[in-house]
Parts: sequence; C-alpha cells; structure tokens
Amino acid sequence: MYDENNIFAKIIRGEIPCKKVFEDDAVLFFYDISPKAKIHVLGIPKNPCIDYADFVLNYDDQIVSNFFKKTEHVINILGLRKDGYRIVSNSGVNGCQEVPHFHIHILGGEKLTL
Ligand code: AMP
Repeated sequence: MYDENNIFAKIIRGEIPCKKVFEDDAVLFFYDISPKAKIHVLGIPKNPCIDYADFVLNYDDQIVSNFFKKTEHVINILGLRKDGYRIVSNSGVNGCQEVPHFHIHILGGEKLTL
C-alpha cells in the first residue's frame, strides 16, 4: 500500500523543499540531497506509485512514456547527453530502496565508478 507520507510525496505536495531541475503537472526532477556523483538528480512521476513495477504496470502507457521522455529532456538540460550518464532505480529490500515512491537516479558529470 502506498504511503502518502513518504518524503517524496511530501516534496510533490510542497511540504518539504527540494532543488528543482524540471517540473510540470506530471513529473518532478530534483537534486539528490546526498549526491553519489558530481551530478545526481532524482526523477519521479507525481502519481502515487511505490516502485518501478507499480508504475509501469498500473499506469497508462502515455503516463509511463511521458515520464521517460521527460527524463531524456532533463538529461539534456543537465548537459549529460554527450558524455554519458547512468540511470538507476532501486526496488524493494534487495534493491535497497529507501523511499517508497518510484524514482530514478540520474548520475553523471564524471566517469562513474561502480
Ligand atoms: P533509494 O535508496 O533509491 O530509495 O534513494 C533515495 C534517495 O533519496 C537517496 O539517494 C537519498 O539521498 C535521497 N533523498 C532522501 N531525502 C531527500 C530529500 N529530502 N531531497 C532530496 N533527496 C533526498
């Protein structure tokens, strides 16, 4: 069951601040508070969804497609397209997911180690 009080739900509602990169009605991209690379941005759909499977299985194709196309837009805004980047989404216990609202990590700005 989706927890309406998880930290990203609070960020979407504007109850907790974040450093925004891009936002529209459907998506929000913001800097990770504890960056693991020179550039570390998180991307979330505004729909309540716990993890990757919840998002792609339970929302319309248009919503899912829009999220990933906006991700590419943000990659371009961040200047990462040319030199490359990594997209990661942690899920569940084995994936070490901390925040139970589906999100992707966009990492780049330097050569990434493991
Ligand atoms: P995950 O382990 O995939 O759930 O990643 C959660 C990420 O959220 C971590 O990289 C945290 O540093 C990040 N994070 C937690 N709280 C905040 C916040 N208030 N603003 C920005 N990033 C956050």
